[in-house]
Amino acid sequence: MKSIDDINFKNKKAIIRVDFNVPLNENFEVTDKSRIEGAKPSIIKVLEDGGAAILMSHLGRPSGAEDKFSLKHIVNAVSEELGVKVKFVSNCIGEEVKSAAEKLQYGEILLLENLRFHPEEKQGDEDFAKQLAELADVYVNDAFGTAHRAHASTTVAAKFAKDKAMGYLLKKEIDSLNKVMNSKEKPVTAIIGGAKVSSKITVIENMLDAIDHLIIGGGMAFTFIKAQGGKIGESLVEEDKQDVALQILKAAEEKNVRVHLPVDSKTTKEFKNDSETKIQSIDNIEDGWMGLDAGPKSQMAFAEIIEMSKIILWNGPLGVFEMSNFAEGTIAAGNAIARATENGAFSLVGGGDSVAAVKQYGFEDKVSYVSTGGGAMLEMLEGRTLPGVAALEE
Ligand code: AMP
Repeated sequence: MKSIDDINFKNKKAIIRVDFNVPLNENFEVTDKSRIEGAKPSIIKVLEDGGAAILMSHLGRPSGAEDKFSLKHIVNAVSEELGVKVKFVSNCIGEEVKSAAEKLQYGEILLLENLRFHPEEKQGDEDFAKQLAELADVYVNDAFGTAHRAHASTTVAAKFAKDKAMGYLLKKEIDSLNKVMNSKEKPVTAIIGGAKVSSKITVIENMLDAIDHLIIGGGMAFTFIKAQGGKIGESLVEEDKQDVALQILKAAEEKNVRVHLPVDSKTTKEFKNDSETKIQSIDNIEDGWMGLDAGPKSQMAFAEIIEMSKIILWNGPLGVFEMSNFAEGTIAAGNAIARATENGAFSLVGGGDSVAAVKQYGFEDKVSYVSTGGGAMLEMLEGRTLPGVAALEE
C-alpha cells in the first residue's frame, strides 16, 4: 500500500478525503479545530511538492442540502489553519466542480461542498465515486474516522483513481494500532472500561492473542464480578452477558493473559455527583448502593501494572468520569499511563469516551497517540479490515 510519501505531487492534483466533521457553535464557528490540524500535514505535503489539493469531507448528518451543514462555514477556519486562502465550490460533483478543479493552480486548495448532500455518498454509488476521483490525478485517503465505512469518497473512489495513497493521519493511526497488536516488546497491557461489556466483547476476544495484561474497569467490570458470584448491589450489570464474561476469563487464562478486575469501588446510593459515597469491597456491595468508580486499592493495583508495561492501549473510562466525584479512577489510570509513557512506553488511547476523558483532564500530550476515530479503531481492534484501507491496497 502506498503512502503519501511515495508520491511526488509536482504538477499533480490530489483529491484528499479528509475528516472535517468538526463541531460548530450557533454562529457556525468551529469550536474544535483538531480535525483540521490532523489533516494539515498531508495537505501541506501536496502543496510543498508543487501540487494542488482538492479537499472533500462530510459534515454532520444532513438530509439533502441543508445550509447548516454546509462546509462553507469552515472555509475561514481551514484557511487560517493552513495559512493558505482556501477556495470553495458549492457542490462536490457536476460541471461547476469540474471547472473549478481544472482551473485550480498548483499551490492552491479547493474545498468541495459536503459530500453527504448527495445520498450517493453513503450508498457507495460508483458513478458518484468516479466523478470525485476524476477531479484529480491522485486519490488520497486521510480520514481514519470514516475508513470503516464503504462510502463513495472513503472507499469506492479509490477504484477509479489513477493513483492512490494513504495520508499521514491514516498511516499514523494504522501504524499505532499495529504497534499494539503486533508488538515484540512486552508486557502489553489493554485497559478496557466503559459502561457495557457487550460493545467490547469482540475487541477483548481478538486482543487476547496480543496482550499480557487485561485491566477491566468501569461499569462493565460488574458483569464479571457478578458472574464470579460477587454481590454488586445496584451497580450496572448486563445479566445476559455473564456467561460471556466467564468465557472471556477462561480464554484469557488459556492464553496466559492476566486479568485484573477492580477489588474495591467508590459507591453511592444515587447517580448524582454530590450524593453520599463510601468505599466498598467490589464483591460485597450493600443492597441499595452502586459502584461508580474504581476504589483506591484498585487504582493502585492498576497503576502498578500500567507502569511496568511497555505497550498500553486504553479504551473506555474506569468510572463515571463525567461527574467529578467519580473521576478519580480514570484520572489515576491517566496519570499512570503518562508516567509509563515518560519512561519509554508506547501508549495509545482511543474510543470516544476515553478520548474525551484524556482531553478533559489534560493527558493528551502525555500519551503517545490519541486515536481520532473511535468506531474505526474498535473495528480494527476487533480484527476487521477497514474497507477504506483495503481499497487502497487493491
Ligand atoms: P462506553 O461508551 O461503553 O465506553 O462507556 C462510557 C460510559 O461509561 C461513560 O459515560 C461512563 O460514565 C460510563 N461508566 C463508567 N463506569 C461506570 C460505572 N461504574 N457505572 C455506570 N457507568 C459507568
